[in-house]
Amino acid sequence: MRIVLLGPPGAGKGTQAHRLADYYGVRLIATGDIFRRNVRQETPLGLKAKSYMEAGELVPDDVVIGMLLEELRRSPNGFVLDGFPRTLPQALALEEALAAAGQPLDAALKYVIPDEVTVARLAGRRTCTHCERTYNLEFKPPKVEGICDNCGGELVQREDDREETVRHRLEIYHRDTEPLQKFYWERGLLREVDAVGEVERITRRAIGALEDLART
Ligand code: AMP
Repeated sequence: MRIVLLGPPGAGKGTQAHRLADYYGVRLIATGDIFRRNVRQETPLGLKAKSYMEAGELVPDDVVIGMLLEELRRSPNGFVLDGFPRTLPQALALEEALAAAGQPLDAALKYVIPDEVTVARLAGRRTCTHCERTYNLEFKPPKVEGICDNCGGELVQREDDREETVRHRLEIYHRDTEPLQKFYWERGLLREVDAVGEVERITRRAIGALEDLART
């Protein structure tokens, strides 16, 4: 199974990506997580990405694409891609790499959610500094305040989850990433998933959409 997840920041793609990768037994590639890990470890890649991320801007295409191609080589049995592609050049680079490997994409799922729900969700989001699992103070709190259920790591508010930065990220999403919907629609790969509601139910909607697509 090779799928990409589209949708604005705060649509719950991270949580859903984990669940779909587990369900299909494939690798999860979350570019934002990879960048955050590199920033923490102060690698050359992290140093390149840091200022863009903190400002809620996109990291330049050449940096992201290079990193992603490396990740794809390590995912011969399929993947769930969360956070990539975010621009047309990224989508084209992905398409080209997968075509060269004879392993085209199976689907692009777009998680649909109103902007105001996104802003409210991200304000309450807390992220594990160790394993990147996300929680929400209101809708999905950890069992112990400030501590990750999964690994015991510390939960913090991401710098770019502050309201002003969230609004800026949404603008960039509408400008640069939303056009990808058309790109995948034209290729017959797009399915929309309603991203409002209970986590388990959203996962079932996504799996239903993927099964539906596989039948067509
Ligand atoms: P995310 O966790 O997916 O919201 O990503 C966090 C930040 O990492 C983004 O706001 C960007 O600065 C950067 N980033 C992640 N994926 C990409 C991408 N495909 N293209 C450009 N920047 C990205």
